[in-house]
Amino acid sequence: MTDKTADKPIAFLDLPAQQKRLGPALRARVDAVLDHCRFVMGPEVAELEQRLADWCGAKECVGVSSGTDALQIVMMAEGIGRGDAVFLPAFTYTATAEVPLVLGATPVFVDVDPNTFQIDPAHLRARIRAVKAAGKLTARAIVGVDLFGQPAPWPELRKIAEEEGLFLLADCAQSFGAVLDGKPLGREATATTLSFFPSKPLGGYGDGGAILTDDPERAALYRSLRTHGEGGTRYEVLRTGMNGRLDTLQAAVLLAKLDGFKEELARRDAIAQAYDAGFADGVQVPVRVPGSTSAWAIYAILLKDPADRAPLQARLKERGVPSAIYYPLPLHKQPAYQDHHDGTALPVSEDLAQRILALPIHPELTDDEVARVIAAVRG
Ligand SMILES: *Cc1c(COP(=O)(O)O)cnc(C)c1O
Repeated sequence: MTDKTADKPIAFLDLPAQQKRLGPALRARVDAVLDHCRFVMGPEVAELEQRLADWCGAKECVGVSSGTDALQIVMMAEGIGRGDAVFLPAFTYTATAEVPLVLGATPVFVDVDPNTFQIDPAHLRARIRAVKAAGKLTARAIVGVDLFGQPAPWPELRKIAEEEGLFLLADCAQSFGAVLDGKPLGREATATTLSFFPSKPLGGYGDGGAILTDDPERAALYRSLRTHGEGGTRYEVLRTGMNGRLDTLQAAVLLAKLDGFKEELARRDAIAQAYDAGFADGVQVPVRVPGSTSAWAIYAILLKDPADRAPLQARLKERGVPSAIYYPLPLHKQPAYQDHHDGTALPVSEDLAQRILALPIHPELTDDEVARVIAAVRG
């Protein structure tokens, strides 16, 4: 082969290229923090909180240490704990189920839609009815997850939460930047949690997260909980909290990244459309949630036959195209969680885990690289 770059491995996440693109603006933001030295709760944290709230029109934003801690703070604020049932999809990242367990509550796994991969409202209703009928656990909350960057079925989830008297939490770790019916996601539930893990659409350079809400009382509680349950003064402890603050340096990085975030989202969407058009029949491309634009945390294809996945991954690797499996096991099958599962069959989640495959979709991908991914998938 004469073209030496043809088989240069493509990155699944290209942080060096991202840094280069962000250029001096990123360094200036970080340098400002190094200059003022207010590494904990420096001015960048409040500035970022305001920018995130403005992005989606939320009244309040509270920066926290990670997406997982955001979930924990929200659930602690509701007093969720022993004897409580928290309903959540079985096909999601582990953190969604981990947090109720850490607090002593029980995750109740719900199956997902075979096309959009989002939580299935009909199955959610059935699971709530069953828990209420059994009378062992108190039904407390629903966690809707915007899987892969597409919105969960929010209108239905809101209706169910209201009818059943449950708290509704939006796990927006993968979807900040997505749009539903013309509005940016962030106000679909009573509280919305974000993650700034480096691989998320709005990723920092370390761990970070935030909580959005329109309820000032809850926001005050979240602020107290992220700083050891502090009260009016630093050394008054009103409640059991945690060390859950967002680092100033992460806020500075995120402020630099927010400036070009709209363009990044547009680039991700353009890549998704190029993939959709490029793949041959037999590869199911992501089915869009009507009225929405995904934040494209993940672009996942669905293969017809589970047996096709390993050979396809091997061929992609040979051509320098990375791929990943989100998620190889639904949560109710995980060793740590299976004993907390009541044995209900969740066939869609189990099937998806066998046939799904994620392809690179970060904004640093060049058109040539996108073409190489398409060619490699086609064979
Ligand atoms: C990434 C992620 C989280 C956790 O976020 P961290 O910042 O890594 O703690 C929670 N839920 C979902 C759906 C995620 O994808």
